[in-house]
Amino acid sequence: IGTMHSDLLLNLNPEQREAVTLPPVNPNGQAQSALILAGAGSGKTRVLTTRIAWLIQTGQVSPIGVLAVTFTNKAAKEMIVRLSAMLPINTRGMWIGTFHGLCNRLLRAHHKDAGLPSTFQILDTQDQLSAIKRLLKGLKVDDEKYPPKQLQYFIAHAKERGQRARELSVGDDFQAKMAQLYEAYDAQCQREGVVDFAELLLRSYELLKHNESIRTHYQERFRHILIDEFQDTNALQYAWLKLLSGHEAGQVNVSSAGSSAVFAVGDDDQSIYAFRGADVENMRLYENQYHPMMVKLEQNYRSHGHILDTANFLISNNTDRLGKNLRTDAGHGEPVRIYDAPSDHAEAAWLVDEIKALVSSGIKRTEIALLYRSNAQSRIIEHALFSAAIPYRVYGGLRFFERAEIKHALAYMRLLENPNDDTSFSRVVNFPTRGIGARSIEAVQDAARVQQCSLYLAASTLDGKSGASLSGFVRLVDHMREATRHNTLPETVEFVIQNSGLIQHYLSEREGQDRVENLQELINAATAFIAEEGYGQDAAAALLPGEGAPGVVAVSPLAAFLSHASLEAGDNQAQAGQDAVQLMTVHSAKGLEFTAVFITGLEEGLFPHENSVNEQNGLEEERRLMYVAITRAKERLYLSHTQSRMLHGQVRYNMPSRFLEELPSDSLKWLTPKAKEARWGGSSSGGGRTGSAWQDGYTRQRDSETNDFFDSGRENRQPAKQIGRVGSASTTVKRMASPPRGNYPF
Ligand code: ATP
Ligand code: MG
Repeated sequence: IGTMHSDLLLNLNPEQREAVTLPPVNPNGQAQSALILAGAGSGKTRVLTTRIAWLIQTGQVSPIGVLAVTFTNKAAKEMIVRLSAMLPINTRGMWIGTFHGLCNRLLRAHHKDAGLPSTFQILDTQDQLSAIKRLLKGLKVDDEKYPPKQLQYFIAHAKERGQRARELSVGDDFQAKMAQLYEAYDAQCQREGVVDFAELLLRSYELLKHNESIRTHYQERFRHILIDEFQDTNALQYAWLKLLSGHEAGQVNVSSAGSSAVFAVGDDDQSIYAFRGADVENMRLYENQYHPMMVKLEQNYRSHGHILDTANFLISNNTDRLGKNLRTDAGHGEPVRIYDAPSDHAEAAWLVDEIKALVSSGIKRTEIALLYRSNAQSRIIEHALFSAAIPYRVYGGLRFFERAEIKHALAYMRLLENPNDDTSFSRVVNFPTRGIGARSIEAVQDAARVQQCSLYLAASTLDGKSGASLSGFVRLVDHMREATRHNTLPETVEFVIQNSGLIQHYLSEREGQDRVENLQELINAATAFIAEEGYGQDAAAALLPGEGAPGVVAVSPLAAFLSHASLEAGDNQAQAGQDAVQLMTVHSAKGLEFTAVFITGLEEGLFPHENSVNEQNGLEEERRLMYVAITRAKERLYLSHTQSRMLHGQVRYNMPSRFLEELPSDSLKWLTPKAKEARWGGSSSGGGRTGSAWQDGYTRQRDSETNDFFDSGRENRQPAKQIGRVGSASTTVKRMASPPRGNYPF
């Protein structure tokens, strides 16, 4: 065994080795906890994984005695794979997962004691809002006075602090009513056998707290609790941890076995989930309450020097830091390249060219990541990749045309085009809710069956209450069709997302802002489609190229757009394991690393996000987000911003992000240096750059020292026009756990 476990330690530096082998028991025989506080890429996750292997291999714990918390399901899977590679053990059944995943597991195992049916279902945030609306309606509560999304936030916030409705101290009548509604909501969930995300945690916390035998069982079982990304835990997660590890006040001596050893790793500079209740303060609490042994890791193994310098320089602008250093032996490597694009389309075209160059230099597509601040930004990038036939995969969110809100909007448009499309009919007949219940839908299905016609036609034949509400829906669709008859495609899209009620619906949701942005992005998609496919203003009469033969029915722009949408949605999907470029928000990139990283849309208002720029805390969190983004890169880092961008349905001329000014100039290489002077030197004419200036930007500037194959021979940089297709099977999109959407309103 001696040689085996020294093998484990072979690939570690002295500090990492120290961290991995910290004694889990102090000289008094009590559990000894640890805190590894270290910057990005210093090997925290590697240390945590190796420690699990070391503990098992040295016989200090058996695999079932370990509980490890990761931030995403993907990270949990990776950890299990690594462990299997290090140790000849069966990792199946080990408790390694996210807080939500582990709590779900606990509740499934003890559903009776937790007061849940064995088949309990989990509500996502969208489902939860619908449940709340239904509740308010049933109670005849004025939802103007008590807005559903505010109630949703109220409930989530209380649960994240571990408070049930009864335990809230209410200051005024409004809060008293909200607390009452919270209680009614919990009762409704209980009746229906469903739990929301925060409930998973709170319910398992209560299970452990109130059920001594279960608590003791798990306290004795999990002698070692290890947590990655500790800086992003919230109050309830911390309380859960304290309970399970036997550190909760009053519980310490309950377990005959005493407390467990907690091993936490984290980086305060990467705390990016404050909007979801995460609290870096937990690190300080942990220090005071667990008196952990501390190890700092200062060697970065991920990034080349220029990239690391860039990250360090940027984050030094934050004031509220615990303070750490990072160094690397990797050498400077390539400078960080910055591209100033004239437009979002040019930015996307540039991305495609750089990706092609990287791929032909031998970098695998899976080693290339495209990061953006908000989900809505992905559409233009996806389109450019699609047109260039570059396979890609979207993490932490669905591909643009597969997102629920986009599919809802497309379903309305399909009904304009073809009222007999029953799938689309069913999708939106009661979305947004318009009081058409399950019974009405059954009635119309029966009628359609009897009359052998579409749901749409059958809807008009029903009478009674169902008939009235259904024909209201039919009238709405007919009205939208009539009203948009002479509209351009973008006008039609806009009319539909407004008049279907989709926009209003998402505006009222707790996390609806991102969906509203996506819907508005659909208007841009239509505009771009018209421009690229050559449909003129009166396109209804236009024929597709080569279809001018007699008898060929002209395809309307709407129909063409809809088929374009389904093709883009289904056909270019990289299959699991296929070598595809990785697209994701910065939030979803946490903990991951790639050979080459592009951070796009570095503009004021976008990154930093406009909701954050007016307050210090918000801005520092955005800066940490930028730090996370930069530190994902191993060898190549590209930053881009555009002078004009279509966003939220209008063209914006944004200043370059302030973060660009906070980077060390020695590590940067401007691909378009003139733009920098022109824009920051006071001249603010957004359209001041010409096509030739754009191309001039590709000539070598300021970097005769670097061996650069990227900048040569780029005369022809027009966005690709033809539609390419890669792969044939349409596969489902893999979604990472708790995918962050762009902007949370809290
Ligand atoms: P983040 O803060 O981004 O989560 P991290 O601190 O968890 O980063 P890891 O992901 O564990 O860092 O490690 C970063 C990279 O460095 C990984 O590719 C890892 O395999 C490598 N690495 C870590 N330690 C060593 C080492 N001692 N020798 C060689 N490579 C190492
Ligand atoms: Mg990590």
